[in-house]
This record gives sequence, structure tokens and C-alpha cells, in this order.
Amino acid sequence: MSARIIDGKAVAAKVRARVATEVAAFTEQHGTPPGLATILIGDDPASAVYVGGKQKACAEVGIKGFDHRLDADAPRADVLALIDELNADPAVSGILCQLPVPGHLDGVEVTNRIDAGKDVDGLTIASAGRLALGMPGLRPCTPTGTMLLLEEAQASLSGAECVVIGRSNLFGKPMAQLLLQANATVTTCHSRTRDLGEVCRRADVLIAAVGVAHLVKGDWIKPGAVVIDVGMNRLTGPPPTLTGDVDFDAAVEVASAITPVPGGVGPMTIACLLENTLIAARAAAAVAA
Ligand code: NAP
Repeated sequence: MSARIIDGKAVAAKVRARVATEVAAFTEQHGTPPGLATILIGDDPASAVYVGGKQKACAEVGIKGFDHRLDADAPRADVLALIDELNADPAVSGILCQLPVPGHLDGVEVTNRIDAGKDVDGLTIASAGRLALGMPGLRPCTPTGTMLLLEEAQASLSGAECVVIGRSNLFGKPMAQLLLQANATVTTCHSRTRDLGEVCRRADVLIAAVGVAHLVKGDWIKPGAVVIDVGMNRLTGPPPTLTGDVDFDAAVEVASAITPVPGGVGPMTIACLLENTLIAARAAAAVAA
């Protein structure tokens, strides 16, 4: 069997096109577009590329971008004051601070300064609590994008055995919560999990978010499983390549559907960030009305 390849680029393009249409309608109705403020502290080249990509994506769908750059040694008080200012600015629907922040700052404190209504990364304590309690709120982008890919793959989640490898606050934990809300039976694995391969072999849906290239072997996959590879591992080469946490060539022979790396989960993250910004703008407009 050769698995169907889940085309994240195509799904992300559909989400972006829909968001663009809905942003145009929002702007027409309210006379002002949704706005996304990004904060980059320091000059880490990879972070600068990520922030640049987010700003460009905003412009493409009609969201107004506010691009704030602070020096690597920006005082804590200045960073918090900027976030307070953005929290109070009605033109700003969503705020994200690119992580990691420089060592003299506390990423958790900085993130939590963002108003929960503008927390488009879904990473504040308030957003995580809302997700855990099953209350409406802004959800983290990569897990949300993964749910859309599972929908695209027509994965049946209710009652299914889902295994998530990784328990980070950014991905693994919120992913498990979203699957639970979709009535899956969820197992979360991590570096201390015993017999990882054995646990994975139970999975109807296997999601790997580890950061170890090709950790998941072909014989860890239940025949017919849906496999989502969140891992982004840069191999120096030659040639330099980006690869996932799953041994794709082996897995594709066993799974029924699988995401490639690149071109799977990666493109979904920014698409869901744009959608979250629109959701935040609508919620703010409803409160103001
Ligand atoms: P992270 O915070 O480093 O978490 C990694 C998780 O993997 C931890 O829970 C860790 O367990 C677990 N782990 C490490 N080695 C393991 C092993 N040998 N066996 C089983 N579990 C193991 O990473 P993250 O932020 O969640 O990201 C994970 C991967 O996804 C990275 O490659 C990252 O680049 C990628 N990612 C991609 C996107 C995207 O947009 N495509 C977004 C987010 C993340 P412990 O908790 O026990 O340490």
C-alpha cells in the first residue's frame, strides 16, 4: 500500500483564500481591517525570517500588520509597556511575541502579558485554561492546523486511538486536548515513555512532534493509520535538507495517509495564525457593538 500524501500547502492555500474573502467582508462592514502586531526582540536570523513570513502573509490577505522590532537588550519594562500599549489599541486585533526571547527576559511572563482576547498564538495561561476546560478561546496555531489536515484526510477521530509523541506547551499538550474534544482516545508520549514503538503501533492516528529526525520507524505504524509529521529537523547535508520525525519512505508504505516534510504541517501554522487574527477581530467587534 502507498499512502495518500496530505498536501498541507494546498489546504493552507484554501484557508488563506477563505480568510482573505472574510477579511474583505469584515473590512467593508467595520471600515477597518483586522490587525496583527508582531514583536521581535533581538536579531536572531531564524526568528526574523519567521516574523517576516507572518507579516507578508498578513499583507496578502488584507490584515494590517504592525511590525515591532526591539533591541536584543530591550529592558523588561519596555517590552511589557509595548504589550500594554498594543493590548489597549483597538486597531490591533492580535498580538504575538516571537519566541524565544533573549535570556534576560522571561518568555512566559512576556507571553502572559498579552490580553487573552488578542492571544492569536493561543499560548497564554488563559488560552490554555480555556482549551483545557473546553471553553471557547483562541487555540494554538500548529495543533489547529493539524486538526484541519486530519479533516482533509477524512480521519475518523471519534473513538479512535490517537497517539501524540511530544508534550510541549506549544504543540503536544494542546494537540492532545483538541483530539480529546473530538472524542478520540488520546495517549501522549515523551522521552520517558517505555516501549514507544509498541505504543505507536496502537495508533489509528499517529502524530509526531519531537524534533528527532526519523525517530518513528515504518514498523511502528499500524497498517492504514493516518500519520502527521510535525517535526522540522534541519540536516546539514550535503545537501542541507529539512526532514521530519517520521521515516517517510518506510511509513508511506504502511500508512493510509501521511504528511510530507516540508509541505505538510508547516504551511498550516501561518494560515491558522491569520484565521485566529480574524476570529479575534470579530470577537472584539462583537464586544464593541
Ligand atoms: P519540544 O518543546 O522540544 O518538545 C519535544 C517533545 O518530544 C518533548 O515532550 C520531549 O519529551 C519529546 N521527546 C524528545 N525526545 C524524545 C524521544 N526520543 N522519544 C519520545 N519523545 C521524545 O519541541 P516542540 O516545540 O513541541 O516541537 C517538536 C518538533 O515540531 C520540532 O521539530 C519543531 O521544529 C516542530 N514544530 C513544527 C511546527 C510547524 O509549524 N511545522 C510548529 C511547532 C513545532 P520530554 O518532554 O520528556 O522532554
